[in-house]
Amino acid sequence: MIHIEEQGTRDGFQVEAVHIPTDLKIKWIEQAVEAGVKRIQMSSFVHPKLVPQLADAEAVCAGVTKKEGVIYSGLVLNVKGVERAIKAGLNHVAISMSASETHSRKNTNKSIEESLTEFAEMARIAKVAGMTVRGGIQCAFGCRYEGKISEQFVIDLSKRHLDLGIDELSLADSTGMGNPVQLKRIMSQIVPLAGNLPVILHLHDTEGKGIANMIAAIESGVNHYDTAFGGLGGCPFIKGATGNIATEDVIHCLHQMGYETGINNLKMIKLAKEVESFLGRKLPGKIKEI
Ligand code: MG
Repeated sequence: MIHIEEQGTRDGFQVEAVHIPTDLKIKWIEQAVEAGVKRIQMSSFVHPKLVPQLADAEAVCAGVTKKEGVIYSGLVLNVKGVERAIKAGLNHVAISMSASETHSRKNTNKSIEESLTEFAEMARIAKVAGMTVRGGIQCAFGCRYEGKISEQFVIDLSKRHLDLGIDELSLADSTGMGNPVQLKRIMSQIVPLAGNLPVILHLHDTEGKGIANMIAAIESGVNHYDTAFGGLGGCPFIKGATGNIATEDVIHCLHQMGYETGINNLKMIKLAKEVESFLGRKLPGKIKEI
């Protein structure tokens, strides 16, 4: 079984210039869950001035009719974000920081060491509130500003995250610069460190290596992946960072390879098409019918 976390309404929408109404976001989240998605990152609790598209995070969280057995989460980058997520009634939160000093400063205005200190505090507050915590490392496989990121540094940062008592560890190829050989090498060292805890990969297809990277990582024992319907997405603070691996493409590939996802891909394709027609442009996801 490969577990998919849908992030279309968060990572996907955060870079869209066109205002997307709250009720549509709610409808699409519910549709993804209806298709069989068991984990969904609904929005991000970041400053509304920085990411205006997600300024309705609270309203989205409140509006979604929750289904038992589904993890509804939000992304947070600081203590204020954790507090908002708690107030919004979420029971799972994704805390994230960067492995690149330059990206860290551009994304959150903090150095890596400052981020780690705040990260520990965020994890503590979330745990006290009874939340499960996903700890994430962005730009783990390359950075547009810095180029290569030291593999040992990423492994050490993963250990420090795990020492904070997080429930899941995620690593992001935020820039899509990673390659299959590199991912396999790094992930096969990180998966054993996490023991029984899930290790999640967040892959972008910026350089066309997204699905190849996923397959390489599956071979090193990673069975959780973030995806976005239509292949939407990018980071507003990373130049040249484009779409996530597309949910419908990933499911199509996994099902063909004999893996189960528990997701009805016809329904996911229908959802991606609805989003595509709303946005009025062809989305990068390749599988338009099966
Ligand atoms: Mg991303």
